[in-house]
Amino acid sequence: MTQQQRTAIVTGGARGIGAATAVRLAADGHRVAVLDLEESAAKATVETIEGAGGTAAAFGADVSDAAAVEAAIGAIVEKLGNPTILVNNAGITKDNLLFKMSEGDWDAVMGVHLKGSFLMTRAVQKYMVEAKWGRVVNLSSTSALGNRGQANYSTAKAGLQGFTKTLAIELGKFGVTANCIAPGFIASEMTKATAERLGVDWEQFKAARAAEIPVQRPGAPEDIANTVSFFVDERSSFVSGQVVYVAGGPKD
Ligand code: NAP
Repeated sequence: MTQQQRTAIVTGGARGIGAATAVRLAADGHRVAVLDLEESAAKATVETIEGAGGTAAAFGADVSDAAAVEAAIGAIVEKLGNPTILVNNAGITKDNLLFKMSEGDWDAVMGVHLKGSFLMTRAVQKYMVEAKWGRVVNLSSTSALGNRGQANYSTAKAGLQGFTKTLAIELGKFGVTANCIAPGFIASEMTKATAERLGVDWEQFKAARAAEIPVQRPGAPEDIANTVSFFVDERSSFVSGQVVYVAGGPKD
């Protein structure tokens, strides 16, 4: 089945899971708005997409800033058309044990993951409702089940699961599905930074994590992009409000 061409937004699309997702959605035939904190950082992903014959443009916005989100959506509409696919992928970590976690680190993580996903989805849903078609995919994490040193992050990632289910309930009658992907260990700049913070060699860190994973390898950003592609597919219209753990084994 050929997919109808749509306009997709991928937040945090400059690198890692977001970049792989943007590339994959473009390969699936969609126009892709690659949004990141800095427009310049998103350009490499756009070049990759264009080099493969796809259509994409770079946009800069902090997803936790309502005015910046509104401005970016306006620019996306003007350049690529009304967005009806949204992947809320932008994320940060500010890990620490609870007794050492600052209020600022709590607020920053809630701001990007929870408020950012809320602001982006609120701004984009009107185009989905108008089109009577839409796809929202939110990035949760296996950390939603609890993870030492991540009281802020695990709370935000669990919150996104509730957010997703509520979107599915509210927007279903408009042809909009909302689903959540909870990745396990994915080799990316985010996990590399964790290894650095812990003072562990990156290759050793990956090998140690792989040994704990049933399929015995770290995840790749493309593993997540593939799952996003499934949720976005025209034929996935009866799949909504779900959380899929993409972790090389069972997690929930
Ligand atoms: P990453 O390599 O750190 O990429 C995240 C991207 O988001 C970066 O380009 C970052 O920009 C951008 N970003 C951060 N804050 C932003 C904001 N306020 N507004 C717009 N963009 C912002 O992370 P990743 O590993 O690909 O992870 C992507 C998503 O998957 C995140 O939501 C993460 O929590 C989730 N996840 C990852 C893993 C994993 O193992 N990697 C596991 C489970 C879930 P800057 O570079 O400028 O900061």
